[in-house]
Amino acid sequence: MNKPTLAITIPCYNEELCIKSTVNSLFEVINDLVIKGKINEDSYIYIVDDGSKDKTWEMVSELHKINSLVKGVKFVRNYGNQMAHIAGLLGVRELGCDCVVSIDADLQQDQWAIEKFVDEYLNGADIVSGIRNSRDTDSFLKKTTAICFYKTMNILGVNIPMNHSDYRLVSKKALDILAMYPEKQLFLRGFFNEIGLENKYVNFDVKPRVIGKSKFNYMKLIGLALNGITSFSILPLRIIAVLGFFMFVFAGFVGLEAVYEKLFLHNTPNGWATLVTVMSFFGGLQLFCMGVIGEYLGQVFREVKSRPRYIKDVELK
Ligand code: UDP
Ligand code: MG
Repeated sequence: MNKPTLAITIPCYNEELCIKSTVNSLFEVINDLVIKGKINEDSYIYIVDDGSKDKTWEMVSELHKINSLVKGVKFVRNYGNQMAHIAGLLGVRELGCDCVVSIDADLQQDQWAIEKFVDEYLNGADIVSGIRNSRDTDSFLKKTTAICFYKTMNILGVNIPMNHSDYRLVSKKALDILAMYPEKQLFLRGFFNEIGLENKYVNFDVKPRVIGKSKFNYMKLIGLALNGITSFSILPLRIIAVLGFFMFVFAGFVGLEAVYEKLFLHNTPNGWATLVTVMSFFGGLQLFCMGVIGEYLGQVFREVKSRPRYIKDVELK
């Protein structure tokens, strides 16, 4: 087998303080892997400038002038970290590579773990997800909300591994599948878990951010979490229908009880039985009808995404 060409993509939003040192550190990793004979020497770095307002892009252009193995693209405005990741993956697919690692510009993720990713790739893995060893660098709030998010996703049927952020290696095969998904809002962690290629895991250490500050605020994180849930699960819609059904059944029992009290116990105020029965009946009916609408909405949701019906693994012709 020829040595694979590795691409490393970096989403960048106002990272002028660290982009140069990050690129240098990543070339140390690339050179080390080239010397060890694990990757091809045309392996490169691809930077996605997510509409930075500082000097990030000037620096990327300078780096590119010195070394053409630094490549990149700049967005006209800030589209958010997921879009930058997707642009990175689709960008290197077009430029050509055998596998690609996505890593954050602040190198909080231990870049030396890339060797373990590549080893798994050389052993045949198509997706290698980085799992962080601990969340010590996160605040208590971020840690707890992250755990709640992963647990909710798992309950909703999207089995993304705990403590995996977008630090991962994917093969060209996985990139080709990504290109078959035309949907605009793609949650990559859900996607790479869903497509059916085998996932391998590599543990890595997380360092605190040394330079610059976090580009994520809680609003962005909530947006990411909601997008993750709504783009991969229609279970919340279905829950409405189920709730409506139970409320309906409940209304039946309440109605029976009210009639019983009215007829045999004679201790209820006038109109109470009717009121309670009608209220729970219509409450249930409304929820149930919303659930039915939800089911149709779910169908529309699946159709507008135009995801491929199936993905072929091998074919003999
Ligand atoms: N990022 C981006 N667009 C954004 C926000 C962040 O491309 O709108 C990039 C950022 O430059 C970094 C990565 O996404 O390379 C992760 O962001 P950050 O390190 O700020 O997040 P944290 O590690 O605090 O979760
Ligand atoms: Mg970071």
